[in-house]
Amino acid sequence: MGSPMSRRRLFGLGSLGAMAAAMGGCTFLMTRSVKAVDAAPPPPPPPPVSVRVSRGIRLHMIQTGWVAVKREHRAFNGPPALRLPAIMASRNWTEWMPITAFVIEHPEGLIVVDTGETARIADPGYTACDSMTGTFYNRNLQFVVTPEDEIAPQMIRLGLSPGQVRQVVMTHLHSDHMGGMSSFPNARVFVSDAARQGHAGALMCRLPSGVAYAPVTYAERNVGVFANTMALTADGTVYLVPTPGHARGHQSVLIVDEGKSLCLVGDAAFSLDQIQSGEIGGIVENHADAVRSVGILKRQFDAFGTIMLPTHDPGNASRLGGA
Ligand SMILES: [Zn+2]
Repeated sequence: MGSPMSRRRLFGLGSLGAMAAAMGGCTFLMTRSVKAVDAAPPPPPPPPVSVRVSRGIRLHMIQTGWVAVKREHRAFNGPPALRLPAIMASRNWTEWMPITAFVIEHPEGLIVVDTGETARIADPGYTACDSMTGTFYNRNLQFVVTPEDEIAPQMIRLGLSPGQVRQVVMTHLHSDHMGGMSSFPNARVFVSDAARQGHAGALMCRLPSGVAYAPVTYAERNVGVFANTMALTADGTVYLVPTPGHARGHQSVLIVDEGKSLCLVGDAAFSLDQIQSGEIGGIVENHADAVRSVGILKRQFDAFGTIMLPTHDPGNASRLGGA
């Protein structure tokens, strides 16, 4: 697919045993033509948003392109067993949503949280780690990502060196979170053990070689409402917290300093609205875990007023404005 702006219609995620089971009898749906996103092609992503969190910490929010999904992918209120067939059958697309990555500028070094999407997503076969995964992405997701939208060139334009990134946290291994993983050759990379074994929709064939994985080990130590946490910095301001459900081993990052807190939520919820209402997304690998994780995020929000920053929430920029 030639131009990097070319729009690729990609269909979906799925663990693929569960997805195959859910799809049994619904195969005909996969051959149906599907309506493209109604809206016009999206504009270039807005420039990064950079805020001072505390005396020592700055946070940069970088939009690495756009994604549209089926409406039933973003939220599905029917029986969990029907969510995948509903996504496959749907002809209703969401609006274009941002694909966000974050860089925490911390006195102990740069920490990247999720690496966004790559322009390679437009290459035929990029998502075809196996035929089911490739088919799901191709039919149920649409992306617009240019090379200039990728995380590394945007960091360089901000004056931040990818080579100096000390830690990379992967909330999970869906395509739109792992596209820039190869840009940080000197970082330790935190992927949960469960995610490293693969999860629904993970692009395991696109994991770069030579990654220095770091172990993820949660300790029983309360931070906010989270009972199990892993400190990423010696000064006790940046923590990994478990938020499984959307994907096995999904994790989020909590920043706490000077009485403020921010949570980089990944895909544990698509929006702050979902956290507040308890609405569960349609792409969920473990429904009970997802309900628990969204409940914990809501308790954290209610108790501490934590600024919640889901990967695909267009409201992040205005909430960060008040950070
Ligand atoms: Zn995801």
